[in-house]
Amino acid sequence: MKLNAFFHKDQLEFHPKYEWALGNRIKHPETTKRAENIFRSLKSQNWINLVEPTSIPLKAIRDNHNYQLVTLYNTAMALEDETTFYPSVFPQRGKGKPDPTNIHHAGFFCFDSGTPLNNKTWQAASWSAASSYYAAKDVLNGSKVSYALSRPPGHHASRDTYGGYCYFNNAAIAAKVFAKKGRVAIVDVDFHHGNGSQEIFYKTDKVFVASIHGDPREYFPYYMGFPGEQGTGDGLGHNMNVILPTGTKWPAYKKALTKTVLTAVKRYEPDYLVISAGFDTYKHDPIGRFQLETKDYTLMAKEFAKLKLPTVICQEGGYFTKDLGANVIAFLEGFRSNL
Ligand SMILES: [Zn+2]
Repeated sequence: MKLNAFFHKDQLEFHPKYEWALGNRIKHPETTKRAENIFRSLKSQNWINLVEPTSIPLKAIRDNHNYQLVTLYNTAMALEDETTFYPSVFPQRGKGKPDPTNIHHAGFFCFDSGTPLNNKTWQAASWSAASSYYAAKDVLNGSKVSYALSRPPGHHASRDTYGGYCYFNNAAIAAKVFAKKGRVAIVDVDFHHGNGSQEIFYKTDKVFVASIHGDPREYFPYYMGFPGEQGTGDGLGHNMNVILPTGTKWPAYKKALTKTVLTAVKRYEPDYLVISAGFDTYKHDPIGRFQLETKDYTLMAKEFAKLKLPTVICQEGGYFTKDLGANVIAFLEGFRSNL
């Protein structure tokens, strides 16, 4: 069986050079080399069919994000080449009057100092969203599973905020495509809590969101990702957060994934699955602090494949670039060979 993988070359146009982390200016981990490494690995496999998406309808973005966020990225397109904008004022919600046509108001829509804007942000982020949108369409057209090389990643972006290297929530975009046809589960296996996906679907029972991650008291995004966050209104009971300790290896990870998360997913009885596939759970990852190995990603994917659900796999984090492509292939191979 061939597996379609979606990626557009313009996703490589965005080059964040550095981020501010706890007051230090450090090299930005979310480099184009990540996507290039994955792309090369995908290309080397004869069972993977690389597909370049066409552009995403604006409505598919607006289904998940407010117009101010879209306007702000368009405002950033007017920045000079080589100019990168980092907001330095982050007003408390509800205070002040945001104007997304003023780049100096970017801080209203941003929640961290690691996620820059420049004149190519819109281009890369909208093509990344397109990869995920058309991967979902591909599944609706009959593919059992599709992969979106969605870079920049998306799971930290909420309806009205960007941050955590994420601008549009690619997983949410795929989930909304599916939600028009049935019930959807998003399972987020990135090392960090998928706060944006949680927030977008927090009040609905149409999409179940589960995330397994490092302890937010120690790791990004710090303020969210705790087990008590279970949804609200119609969404109550449709959000799940599982925290695992620093240094977690596959046996303990597998137990949390299968016994807790996938058991809850099965109980929800979804018609479709979206996996937010971050590989910063890898043992050498410079940001994540779990201890998974390449072969573990094959075993992880096998557990997902057992659900027998039409599935989109969205790329999220993973910052040990050298092994990133191999880890993605291990995951896709595990999924495909267990269908
Ligand atoms: Zn992450």
